[in-house]
Order: sequence, then structure tokens, then C-alpha cells
Amino acid sequence: MKMDDAYEGSLSKSVAPAAPPLPGPATSYHQKGLVMNGLPLRGYSSVSTAAKDLWERLFDSGYKADVAIYTDYNGIIYAHANVLGMASPVMKGMLNQSKGHGRWRSLSIHGVPQDAVRVFIRFLYSSCSEKADMEDYVLHLLVLSHVFVVPQLKRECERQLEHGLLSTENVVDIFQLALLCDAPRLSLVCHRMILKNFKVVSDSEGWKAMMQSHPVLEKELVESVLDEDHKQKERIRKLKERKIYLQLYEAMEALVHICRDGCKTIGPHDKDFKEDQAPCNYTACKGLELLVRHFAGCRLRIPGKCSHCKRMWQLLELHSRLCDDSDVCRVPLCRNFKERIKKQSKKDEIKWKKLVEKMLRTKRIGGTNFFSEELASPS
Ligand SMILES: [Zn+2]
Ligand SMILES: [Zn+2]
Ligand SMILES: [Zn+2]
Repeated sequence: MKMDDAYEGSLSKSVAPAAPPLPGPATSYHQKGLVMNGLPLRGYSSVSTAAKDLWERLFDSGYKADVAIYTDYNGIIYAHANVLGMASPVMKGMLNQSKGHGRWRSLSIHGVPQDAVRVFIRFLYSSCSEKADMEDYVLHLLVLSHVFVVPQLKRECERQLEHGLLSTENVVDIFQLALLCDAPRLSLVCHRMILKNFKVVSDSEGWKAMMQSHPVLEKELVESVLDEDHKQKERIRKLKERKIYLQLYEAMEALVHICRDGCKTIGPHDKDFKEDQAPCNYTACKGLELLVRHFAGCRLRIPGKCSHCKRMWQLLELHSRLCDDSDVCRVPLCRNFKERIKKQSKKDEIKWKKLVEKMLRTKRIGGTNFFSEELASPS
């Protein structure tokens, strides 16, 4: 908005004097919107206290006012056309069109409590609002600031809602308002809150009212909750799956390590076992050592008969499928399995391939493939 335009309307026709200029940095607040940055200066403002008081006095006293704002229940609020026109382009347009009596022009703002209108108009003067007023009328102020295009107040309302005034009790109302008032960030914040607290929110009065007034919106919300629920379950399932594949991969690493280097209680078959070995870095080692010891001593050892041995057989077979060079490999039965795999059914082959693929893919997200690099390296 150009300053000249704004003044033209009021100065040429008006009897009321132009509002006194704001001193210091605050003079630029209309142009630059340097109004609210959350500074805790009595309410929400960065305008100096003296300037704020001066503007509020102008509003409260109605000194040489030239606009009557009619509100619900025959309320009237007096204001100055030049201030209103400067603060809100919509009001400027309304004032330019309104036919006045003498110097008086009139506006109507209905459907909002008079006190909310008063807080709104006072904000247009001082760019401030008291904390209590903001808490009481934040929803009305949001609507008013949207309708009359006062972006700095709208931003402040959104900020206040996001940082404290939003609750599970009012979130449904505010969500609808945010959609109506084109406040995308606020609607997103509300939507998240609804998803997170669906049980409580869907029990609120606001939800019941919405079911009556906006059944389509209610349906969409329920769908988004179900959708989010599904996504959450899917995320958990994937995480669990990833954990299993990582564990399997670690077991594979540890198996090679035990058979190649020896670890704690198990020595490599071609080296002397050292009592004072430092603890190794393989997390799966301990569990695997127990399994290997069991496997060595178990009398059943047939897959189907002993679950521990069955696991060991699977690990050995899996290893063989990952192993690049059975000639150098120290893992027992590595070469035997390689021979057996050649005679395997298509169905089994696909099953194992899938497992290997998934395991390697999981690992690749986190690091390099151990087997292609380390397995063949001399111990
Ligand atoms: Zn170890
Ligand atoms: Zn066994
Ligand atoms: Zn091998």
C-alpha cells in the first residue's frame, strides 16, 4: 500500500487531523510490518511503550474520531478513518465506499463480540494486544485479521495458538477456522494434534459439532487418522524387520570371525587358543559362541529335532550363500552347502535369495558389505 494513497482519502475529505506520526523505529511499522516479534513488552509488541500509550489514548478517547463502527447488540466503537485505512486495506475500501453524514463514516462488524472488535481495532492503532485479551479473543482476532487483511495480527494469533492456546478441547474448532482463514501452518499443527490425540479430541464438543456441520471434513479426518495409524504400524513392522535382518547379518559376521580368528572360548581350529584374548567387537559373538558350543555337543543335531541346531544349520547355510570363496573360508561345511545348493529346488532357491537380498539391503543402508571385503582376507 502506498502512503500517498492512504492519506489521500482521509486528508482531502477529513476534518479530523492526521494521526500523529509514531516516533523512532516504530514509524516504519505500517510499511515494514515490524510489529510483533514476540518481545515480551507488555502484551505483544515491539513498539515503544510511550508510542503505544499515545496510540491507545487516541483510540480510547475517540479524540476527533470520524468513524462509527456498529457491532452486535447495538454497540458502537469510535475510531479514525485514516488509522483504520492505513492499517487495513479492506477497511480503507469500505470507508471509501461508505456514504457519511458530515465528517462521520460508518462501518459494521457483526457476528463477533463487541469486546473482540474493540481489541481488534485497538490493535490497528497500537499494534499491541494484552495477553488476557489475546487469550479471550484469539479466535475472533484470527477471523478479523484474516477478513480485514491485517497480516501481523494474523501471524501473532497463529503463533499464540500454536504455542499454548491450542488444546484438545478447542483444536477441532481452530482447525476449521484455520482452513477457512487460509492459515496452512496452523491447520497443519491442528491436524497433527488431532492425529496424536484422536481419542480425546473425537470426544470433544467441537468434534460433535463438526459431525453435524461438516460431515465431509469429519470423514476426511477419520480417514487421515486411519491412514496415519496404518503408516505407523507399517513403520514399526519395517523397523522390527530391519532389526532382525541386522541381527542376522551380525551373526554372519561373527560366524566368520569366530571360525577365522577364534574368540574367547572358541579357538580357530588351526591356531592355539589364547586365554587372555581381548574382548572382540562383534556384538553377536557371545550368543553365537554358545550356539556353536551347543552344536558341537548336541546329540540330536538333526534339523527338526533340536531348535538350536536347526538355527545353526540355517546360519551355516546362509553363510555359504554369502561366501565368495569356499576354498579360503574357515567356516565348517561352507563348501558342502555350496554343493548342495546346486541341487536345490527352484522354490527353495528363491526363498533363500530373497532372504540374502533383504539382509544385504538392510545392511547396505548402514555400511559396506562385510563379506565381499573381509571374508577372503588372510587371518
Ligand atoms: Zn568374537
Ligand atoms: Zn542341538
Ligand atoms: Zn564360507
